[in-house]
Amino acid sequence: MYKSIIGIICIFFILNGCSSKKPKVIVLGMDGITFDIAEQWIEEGKLPNFKRIIDEGTSGRLISTIPFVSPAAWTSAVTGVNPGKHSIFSFVRGVTFEKGEGISHLNLSTDRKAKAIWQIIGESEKRSILINIPQTSPPEEINGVMFSGEPHADSDHPQGISENLTYPPGVKNRFPNYRVDPSGVEYDASEPKKFLSDRFDIARRREKVLFELMQREEWNLTWVVFTITDIIQHYYWKYMDSTHVLFDKEEAKEYGDAILRVYQMMDKTIGKTLKVMDENTTLIIMSDHGFGPIIRAVNTENFLREYLPNSIRKWIIAYDYVSPVFKVNTPPSGGRKQYDKVRLSLYKALKELKDPENNRKVNKDVFLSEEIYNGPWLSAGPDVVAYVDTVYRYIGYKADPNKGVLMQLDVNGFNAYHERDGVVIMFGKNIKKGAKLNLPSIMDVTPTILYLFGEELPLDLDGKIIKDGLEKEFLKNNPPVYGGYSVSYPTNRDAEGKLKSLGYL
Ligand SMILES: [Zn+2]
Repeated sequence: MYKSIIGIICIFFILNGCSSKKPKVIVLGMDGITFDIAEQWIEEGKLPNFKRIIDEGTSGRLISTIPFVSPAAWTSAVTGVNPGKHSIFSFVRGVTFEKGEGISHLNLSTDRKAKAIWQIIGESEKRSILINIPQTSPPEEINGVMFSGEPHADSDHPQGISENLTYPPGVKNRFPNYRVDPSGVEYDASEPKKFLSDRFDIARRREKVLFELMQREEWNLTWVVFTITDIIQHYYWKYMDSTHVLFDKEEAKEYGDAILRVYQMMDKTIGKTLKVMDENTTLIIMSDHGFGPIIRAVNTENFLREYLPNSIRKWIIAYDYVSPVFKVNTPPSGGRKQYDKVRLSLYKALKELKDPENNRKVNKDVFLSEEIYNGPWLSAGPDVVAYVDTVYRYIGYKADPNKGVLMQLDVNGFNAYHERDGVVIMFGKNIKKGAKLNLPSIMDVTPTILYLFGEELPLDLDGKIIKDGLEKEFLKNNPPVYGGYSVSYPTNRDAEGKLKSLGYL
């Protein structure tokens, strides 16, 4: 009965310009995937669906934010602006010390200060399916369905996993088997098998929700982020890389193909997507940053202690425990002069920081915030940011004070970390065939999707339409339309809330 009614409606629409002609976009986010390893597997025929969409679509490396960490990068991807405009620079907004314990203030959906693409297209009645995009917790009231992404918290203190997972709230009851990424579950090098199979289980359940929602819901945009790619590369790189400092021949026999298996799972997800997408759909595969092996860790607290005198150090907060971002908190009485002095000392120390074992510089470059960010939220972010050489990784305030600045890797810790260049592959409706892109920015993804939808592009976006990847005819017939604004400006209340959260009020 239902089917025949739908049939009649469809015939009506075919006669009157069929509804199925509306443009649709699917973004399959694969956190941290990189051509550095995928290229060879594609050549060897191990990833046939990646190969197909690269051959028949448009692809290239995608430049991430600095630091190249998921919260800043994914938020730039979904907003089309730099962190100075969306206000999410890293995992946390700061660390306060309560009873000697460092407490992280996490970045949540409520901290994002620029419109996400689902808000922009929601204003013109377009519906979205959003699954596991970082920094979308607590879930937002949207025109569509949202499964929020990490961190799964309602407030900015990490207090375990929030029950408040979906919008509308009842959706989660339709998918009782969905699992979020467990927070605080540490990898145990003595049990890599268990960890690996658990992460595959989570990814499979996520994929199931993805295809069921695409089938059951009305939608224009579907955007999912798979995190298995990131977490397994962090811990299993050492098993596949015989030059890695933690490589072990015996373990390699068992787990050397773990990362390949994850990429192959993603390849199958692409294959399934190709089967369900219609001729009006554009598919985008993307990662938020690349990946590569690390050889040593940088103990951030020990760096500050050894490289800077106490008179300078006491005004610096290494405010994120996993990325090289620093806040200078000089008292107002010291004025601009004292702030500049502290900031410049930190800048120089980061430039000089070397690994004594090989005399290699730990940071490829160091930036003052205004050199890489712009926008009304600049002062909410770090004051100094390092662009780290990717064989090093910063770790934070809980590190052992006796272990020096450059530390050996922990066998249970990460053995690979993020690199700057992610991946973008576009395929399907209005996409050029066989084209290679010249280093687009992660901020270009949202403007490109808005353009594919025929939406107005807000005037304050930083990203551009990826024109090199679009068919000439489509570009010619559809001049972009600009209008409106995306970014919110701070109010006095924001400034007060910020100071309060950092313990100043
Ligand atoms: Zn990431």
